[in-house]
Amino acid sequence: MALHKLAIVAVVLGAASLAAAAEAPLRKLAPVPFTDVKFADGFWAPRLETNRTRSIPYNFKMCEDTGRITNFDKAAGKLEGKFEGIFFNDSDLYKVIEGASYALAAHPDPALDKYVDGVIARIAAAQQKDGYLYTFYTVNKTLDKRFTDCRSKHEMYCAGHLFEAAVAHYRATGKRTLLDVACKLADYLDSVFGPDKRHDIEGHPEPELALVKLYEATGQERYLKLAAFFIGEHGHAACGRKLYGEYSQDHKPLAEQDEPVGHAVRAMYFACGGADVAVYTGAPGYMEALRKIWDNVATRKMHITGGVGARHAGEAFGAAYELPNESAYCETCAAIGFALFSQRMFLATGDPKYVDALERVIYNGFLSGVSLDGEKFFYVNPLASRGKHHRQPWFGCACCPVNVVRLLPSLPGYQYAQDDKTIYVNLYVAGTAKVKHKTGEVTLVQETRYPWDGKVKITVSPAKPMTFTLAVRTPGWLEPPTEGDALYRSPAVKDAGYLNMKVSGSSKTDITGDPPGYQRITREWKAGDSFEIEFRMPVRRMYAHPNVKDDVGRVALQRGPVVYCAEGADNGKDLGHFFLPQDAALATEHKADLLGGVTVIKGKAQVRQAEGEAARQADFTAVPYYAWDHREPGPMAVWIAEKPETADARPQPTIAGTSKVTASYVWKADTADAINDQREPKNSADQTIPRLTWWDHLGTKEWVQYDFAKPTKVASVEVYWFDDTGKGSCRTPKSWTLLANVGGQWKPVEGASPCGVEKDKFNKVTFAPVEAAGLRIEVELQPKFSGGILEWKVGGEK
Ligand SMILES: [Zn+2]
Repeated sequence: MALHKLAIVAVVLGAASLAAAAEAPLRKLAPVPFTDVKFADGFWAPRLETNRTRSIPYNFKMCEDTGRITNFDKAAGKLEGKFEGIFFNDSDLYKVIEGASYALAAHPDPALDKYVDGVIARIAAAQQKDGYLYTFYTVNKTLDKRFTDCRSKHEMYCAGHLFEAAVAHYRATGKRTLLDVACKLADYLDSVFGPDKRHDIEGHPEPELALVKLYEATGQERYLKLAAFFIGEHGHAACGRKLYGEYSQDHKPLAEQDEPVGHAVRAMYFACGGADVAVYTGAPGYMEALRKIWDNVATRKMHITGGVGARHAGEAFGAAYELPNESAYCETCAAIGFALFSQRMFLATGDPKYVDALERVIYNGFLSGVSLDGEKFFYVNPLASRGKHHRQPWFGCACCPVNVVRLLPSLPGYQYAQDDKTIYVNLYVAGTAKVKHKTGEVTLVQETRYPWDGKVKITVSPAKPMTFTLAVRTPGWLEPPTEGDALYRSPAVKDAGYLNMKVSGSSKTDITGDPPGYQRITREWKAGDSFEIEFRMPVRRMYAHPNVKDDVGRVALQRGPVVYCAEGADNGKDLGHFFLPQDAALATEHKADLLGGVTVIKGKAQVRQAEGEAARQADFTAVPYYAWDHREPGPMAVWIAEKPETADARPQPTIAGTSKVTASYVWKADTADAINDQREPKNSADQTIPRLTWWDHLGTKEWVQYDFAKPTKVASVEVYWFDDTGKGSCRTPKSWTLLANVGGQWKPVEGASPCGVEKDKFNKVTFAPVEAAGLRIEVELQPKFSGGILEWKVGGEK
C-alpha cells in the first residue's frame, strides 16, 4: 500500500524544510513520529527525563574525558597527540549526538543545543577535503590505509552512525551543519564503492540503514542505491573479493539466508538495512529471507528477556535453543538491534507479532542495560548471576551506553502507526499523541498505569468528526502459546484475556478481531469519544521449549510484558537452593518506594536441604528483571527450579567445601571459591559452571590454596583442570606440585603419586597421610597459555 509519504515525512521533519520526499512503496504502515507523541506516564516518562538530564550529559562528559572528542581536534590539526581509545570510538560520539537531537526535538534546551553545535563544529573540522572522516587513520597519519581493511576497521560503521546523528540533528533543529558533513562523507563513499567501482562490504552493518535515513531526509537516490549495493555485496564474491564468512553475515546472499548467524549486533543491523532496502526496492527474496531470519530468532534464539546473541565467543548467535542463563551474553546493543529489526518488520507487514517482540525487548532485555539513575550500564545481560556481574559507569568499548542514550528518547515513535484508513495503537503508555492522519488530525490521550495495571482508556478526539479505524493491539502475552513450536509457553489460566471493552462507555460495539492481535473499531469518531479495555495481568508461569536444556525443570515468571527475576537481596543467599512447586500460590504487591516503583511477586518457595533432610519453606520475592543489581550484590535468577532435583544441591560438609580459598591471582570474571562449590564439570571445556582461572597471566607460576576449617589428616586430592582449546587460551598446566601446611610451613607432600594434567577427568593424587592446616597447588602454566581449575576435592585418611 502506497502511503501519503509527503505528508508523513513533512511531519517527521517538524520545523526543518524538506529537500525531497522519499517513498517506501512496500512499507505497509508509517510510524507516528516520536515528535508527535508525548509520554506522560509513571514508567517511561521519568526514564526519558533521566536520559535527557543525566545520561546524555554524562555520556558527553565521558566522550570528553576519554579523548573521544579530542580525537577530532587532533584529526583537524588543532591539537597535538596520539589517537586515544579504540579505532571505532568516533561512533560513540555520533550516537550521543543522535540521542541529544531526539531529546532536543521533544524538549527545547538552548544550553544543550549550543553544546551540540560546538561538538559538530569540531567534527566538521576533522573531515578531509574529499569528504573522508575517520579520526583513527587521520590522527595516526595512516590515511593511505583507508578502506584497506573494511572487514574489521569500522570506517563505514562510524560513517553510518554519523549519518543517523546528522539526520536526527537536522530533523530536530533544522540545521544542516552535521547533515552537510554527512552528505559529503556519503558522497565520498559513493565515489569509492559501487557496482562499477570498488567491491567490498562495510565490515559491520550500520551504514545501510543509515544511508536509507539519509536518502529519506535528502531525497538523494544515490544514498539508497549505495545502501542496496552494500546489502547486495554480502555473500557475493564479486570481482575476486574473498568472503568474510558468517561472523559478518557474509557467508551467502541475504535472499538465501534463513537464520541469524555470527556477531549478533552485526546480524540485527544487517537485517534492519536489508528491510529498509527491501521496502524501497522490492529486492527479490529479501523480505522472505528476513521473515525467516526473524522467525528463527523469535522461535529458536531469543532469551525470554528479548535478549539475543547467546555466546560470549564472537558476541554471537548460538545454535537453535542454545540459551544459557549465567553465561548468556545478550549484549544491550543486540537487544536494541532486535527491537529495531522488529519495528521494521512490523511496518513492512502490519503483523503485531513483531510488536510483541519489541515490547518484550524494551521492558526487559533492553531496559536492564541502564541503571535507574541513568549513569551505569550493562554491556552483557545474563539471566543468572552469582553476584559478581554489575553495571559499569563506562566501557573501553562503549557501544552499549551510547546506544541506550539514543533509543530511549525515540521510544514514543513506537507507540502508534498508521495507514490510509487506520490508526494502530501498539504500546500502552499514558500521554498524548497528535496523529496527522490522512482523514485529518486526531488527538489521542491515553490513560493507563501499564505495565503494572492493564486498564487502558484512550480518548479519541479528531479535529472534526471523521471515519477511520482504530486498531488496538491486544498483546501476545495475554494468551501465550500452551505448547507446540513456541519458544516460551504458559499453561492456560482462568483469569486471563481482557475485559470491559467499551467505545464511548458502551460495550455494544462493532469490534472485530481475535486476540492476540488487533481489535478494530471502524466508526465516525467525534471529539471526546473513547475506547476502554482492561488487560488482565495474572502472574504467568512461563516454560521454555523442552529443547532449551538450560531451562529444563525451571520456570520463569512474567506479568504483563514484564519478566521477573529473584535476587539475593530479597531471598537471601539460599536462593540457588530454592524451588517453586507448580502449586505454590503467587501474589502481587505494588511497592511505590522500591526500585523506582515496581510490582513484586510474592509467594513461598521450598528450599532444598542436605541429603536426607526434608525441604523447608521460605519467603519468595521476585522483582522485574530490568531492575536487578540495584541493591547489595548477591545471586540472581530468572529461571527458578520447580523441583528439588533442579535446585542447587547442598554442598556436603567436605574438607574442601569448608576450606577458605585463596589464590595468587584470579581473573575478574571468575571466582576462587568455584573450585570447592561441588559442581561437577561435564568436561574440561565446561563453561556452564563457575571456575577459577589465572587468565590473563600467560606462562607464569601460580598457586591456589585451601586453608582447612581445622587441622585435618589428608591423604589425597582430585583436580579437574579447565581447558578451553578452540575458544580461548587456557590449557592444562605444564606441571604442578602439591604442598601441605604443616606447623605453619609449606612443604611438598611426601610419597605423592604423579600429578596428572589430563583433561576431562579428575586427576587423583595420593600421598602419605599428613595432618595439615591446609593444602596448596603450585602450577607452572604452559608457555604462552593460561590455565584454571573447575573443581578441587580433598580426601582424608581412609
Ligand atoms: Zn554494545
